[in-house]
This record gives sequence, C-alpha cells and structure tokens, in this order.
Amino acid sequence: MPTDLRLPTHTIVKPDKDIFLDEENPFEGMMLRFDKAAELLDLEPGLYRVLRHPEKQIIVSIPVMKDNGEVEVYTGYRVLYNTSRGPAKGGIRFDTQVTLEEVKALAAWMTWKCAVVNIPFGGAKGGVVCDPRTMSVTELERLTRRYTAGIISVLGPDSDVPAPDVNTNERVMAWIMDTYSMHVGHTTTAVVTGKPVEMGGSLGRREATGRGCMFVTKEALSHLGMPIKGTTVAVQGFGNVGSVAAQLLHAAGCKIVAISDRSVSLYDPNGIDVDEAIEYAKKNNHHLDGYPRAEVISGADLLTLDGDVLLPAALENVITTKNAGQIRARIICEGANGPTTAAADSILEENGIFVIPDILANAGGVTVSYFEWVQDRGGYFWTEQLVNDRLRDIMVKSFHDVLTISKQHKVNMRTAAYMLAVSRVATVHRLRGIYA
Ligand code: NAD
Repeated sequence: MPTDLRLPTHTIVKPDKDIFLDEENPFEGMMLRFDKAAELLDLEPGLYRVLRHPEKQIIVSIPVMKDNGEVEVYTGYRVLYNTSRGPAKGGIRFDTQVTLEEVKALAAWMTWKCAVVNIPFGGAKGGVVCDPRTMSVTELERLTRRYTAGIISVLGPDSDVPAPDVNTNERVMAWIMDTYSMHVGHTTTAVVTGKPVEMGGSLGRREATGRGCMFVTKEALSHLGMPIKGTTVAVQGFGNVGSVAAQLLHAAGCKIVAISDRSVSLYDPNGIDVDEAIEYAKKNNHHLDGYPRAEVISGADLLTLDGDVLLPAALENVITTKNAGQIRARIICEGANGPTTAAADSILEENGIFVIPDILANAGGVTVSYFEWVQDRGGYFWTEQLVNDRLRDIMVKSFHDVLTISKQHKVNMRTAAYMLAVSRVATVHRLRGIYA
C-alpha cells in the first residue's frame, strides 16, 4: 500500500486564540526570548533592527471554484523571515485561525531553529485562512495550487522550501511540487519537503521529530547523571511527535508512566506498554480513550506528575505561570512548538528544572527535511539507518553546543539556544554586509 495521502480530519493542533492569556501571544513570546539573547550577545543596534524584521511578507487572495460552482476567495500568507544562511524553510498551515502576526512569529522561530542545528536554511512560514475540514479534496487541491501560483515567485529549492504544518500533509506537498514543476517546466522535487517517499521524500522523516526528542532527552539525562534505565517519562500528546518519542524512549529503557491525547490522559506507575497503546490508538480512530490497561487521570495532573521527564508534544502554551510552579519533573523536553510561555521560563528555572527548548528539542523534523532536500538535489537516496545516524549526530552535537553556551554564560538552555541561533545568523549578516 503506498503512502496514505488522506488529509487529517481528527487533529487540529491549535488552541482557540480567544482564550490566550497575554503571556501566550506567540510573536511576543518569541521576541522576548530573542531580545534577551540579543542583549546578552550585545548585538549591534543595526543588526538588532534587521533581525527584528521579516525580510518579505506576501499576502495573496486565492479564488477557488467550489464543487457547487460558486467562487470563494481565501487569504494566504507566506513570510520569509530571514534567508541570510540559505533558502527559507518552513511549513504551510491551513487553518481558520491563521494570521499574518502568527505566520511572522513562526517564520522567525524557523530561522532560529535551523540555526541552532546549523543546517543551511533560513526561516519561513505560510498559511491559508480556511477550514480544510469543510472542504472536499478537489477544493483543497484547487486552493493549494492557486496559493502555490500566488507565491511562486519566492518558491524554489534555492529560495524557499515549504513543508507540511497544521492540517497540511504529504498530499498537499505533492500538489505544491507538481504546480511548481509545471510552472518551471521540469520536475523539481527539492521545492518542498515532507513529500511522499515515492516521489522524493526521505525515509525516517515521519519519525524524525520524535527521534530527535529521544536523542536530546538521553543527552540531558546523561548530563544530569541520571540513568536512562527506569527514568520515568510523562508524554502529553500521542500523535506523530509524542507517540514516536514515547516508543523510542521506552525502547531505550525509560518507563513511560503517562501518555495523553485530546481524548484522555492515562497513567500507570509501572509503565505503559507504548507499542500496545499505539496499536490500540490506530484501531480506535487515533484516540487513546478506552485503553484498558492504565488509570485515567486529568490532563492537568499529567503535567504535574512526580516523574523524571515531562515531554509536552501537543499544543502551544500548556506550561504557563498558572501551573509552572507545580511541575515536578526534573527535565522538560519540548516536543511541541511553544509549549512554555516566556513568563513561565523563570519559574521553571528557579525550581531547577532543566528545559530542552523547542527550537532544539523538536528540530529533528527540519533536520531530516534538510536531508530530504539534500537527497533530492543529489538524486541519491539514503538508507533509513543513515538518515537516523546523521540525525543523531546533529541532535547530539547541537545539544552540546547549546549546553556549552549555557555553562559559559550561566544561562538556561532556552536562552543559550537563542544566543547560539542569533549569533549564527548575525555572523553571516556581518560577513555578507548590507547590500547597496
Ligand atoms: P499530531 O496532530 O500528530 O498530534 C498531536 C497530538 O496532540 C494528538 O495526539 C492530539 O490528540 C493531542 N492533543 C491535542 N490536544 C490535546 C490536549 N489538550 N491534551 C493532550 N493531547 C492533546 O501533531 P504532531 O505532528 O505530533 O505535532 C505536535 C506538536 O509538535 C505541535 O506543537 C507541532 O507544531 C510540533 N512539531 C511537530 C513536528 C513534526 O515533525 N510533526 C516538528 C516540530 C514541531
């Protein structure tokens, strides 16, 4: 059976913006961390101004003929935040809550993430304001192709390389690749990543983010002198990132004492059989509810369990000033993007919790996207083992690069990761100078 190309209908990984606390604005949260890093790096005022502005923001109106013959017009965005280190890289999301502010924040986030793991990409993000769950597959295809045509002047393996994000998947990437290829007159697989393996996707991409979380968690345990065997782990979110991270940490000897998804949170102090839970969820419409061999607990309790590692892999803003003080884990590995608000950072630090920040912890996905781009451009495909080995090398090295800065400057891992990222981007700006 070839790759499953259906669009997801059961998961929208996004909170309702109406219930955001002030501390939960994604652009502000990211910029607070950037500002702190810039101050510690003593960044020149000119460069600070450059890095606080996105390079290019595109807004397109996307007319789409609906199946009933009516024409609807959607709004789409693509923001290239910074391309000093290489082509822009970042996902495209289809969601009713997409805003230009959010796309800008996520594009900046991608800039820092690519720089932390030192892959030669800049940062971008895109989005279309729509509700894909109410659209047919043919409507989505027309939307995707017209959006692609609208932003085609920036797309390209050397300029801007999209990937899947919330509510987009391999199938959408295949449409983007096809549309771009038709425009330029030849097949260009490297214009997107996260494609089906049958048309230039990389082996190991699906598991890459969860696998990266496993690698950095193991490094953190070793750094803190904690044994892997028997380490207790609670995982929030049991989708692509959470389930793979849980499975691989379990295989490495950790005890996964809690897992959760949008349907239920489960707890077993003796350890949950992760493979069995994955099989159960597969047969249960991707949900864990009804899984019989664990106790049901509340989602809030999962976050404050008395365990060694907490791995949030579901939503933004789940660790805030409201609950940060109750978290008892020794390590937080941020599988999700933005699970901790900037205001909660200092509470975790005061309580001695070792946080592996999102821009490092979940960078395994973009790292294997980079491998996909490299393989497409080389026209030579790697074994899954080679992909996984190279991913491990990058994740382990990046963890230690960040740890070194954290020790040198006596700052937490998040600030160290931002310092590393901002300094790498700033260095290239200094070397290149300002054009014209
Ligand atoms: P996914 O859709 O595969 O899984 C999300 C999981 O979270 C599902 O199990 C869902 O049921 C669960 N969930 C939703 N609401 C919840 C709640 N209130 N409590 C507990 N669980 C809840 O998504 P994913 O690809 O695993 O992404 C998860 C996070 O990781 C997102 O923040 C995403 O941006 C980030 N991320 C993903 C990748 C990737 O390669 N997939 C890369 C980097 C970052």
